[in-house]
Amino acid sequence: MTLITQNVDGLHQRAGSPEVLALHGNLFEDKWFDAPKACCQTGRAEPGSPPRCPACGNMRRPAVVWFGEELPRQTLAAAEAAVRECDLMLVVGTSGVVYPAAGLARMAAGKVVIVNPEPTELDDPAHVMLRGNAARLLPQLLED
Ligand SMILES: [Zn+2]
Repeated sequence: MTLITQNVDGLHQRAGSPEVLALHGNLFEDKWFDAPKACCQTGRAEPGSPPRCPACGNMRRPAVVWFGEELPRQTLAAAEAAVRECDLMLVVGTSGVVYPAAGLARMAAGKVVIVNPEPTELDDPAHVMLRGNAARLLPQLLED
């Protein structure tokens, strides 16, 4: 199973999901604001708000995708590869309006099942729609 998420809270990783593709990054990680130079060493950033490279002033920032930024290319490519090979895709708890993530359901090789309390923009390409709360419905899917 490959878990693709737009969440940035790291909950899937902390819950033990083995393969998580976090399309929008992880709030508990950080990265350099500008492309790092040789002087930019994570462990040597000067403390502050935000921490900075003492040599060039490059700043640390949360490793999440901000509005207007592209998704991490490798992560998006891995997500696209996973859905193009899947037998079944569960799309859980999304309105399906944020692209390119919403486009993944349209390129799925297998059946697409939507789990959401409300209609979504992805209902048309879906094979099955389960209306309801994911916390209640997902455990029921695992029962005999
Ligand atoms: Zn630097």
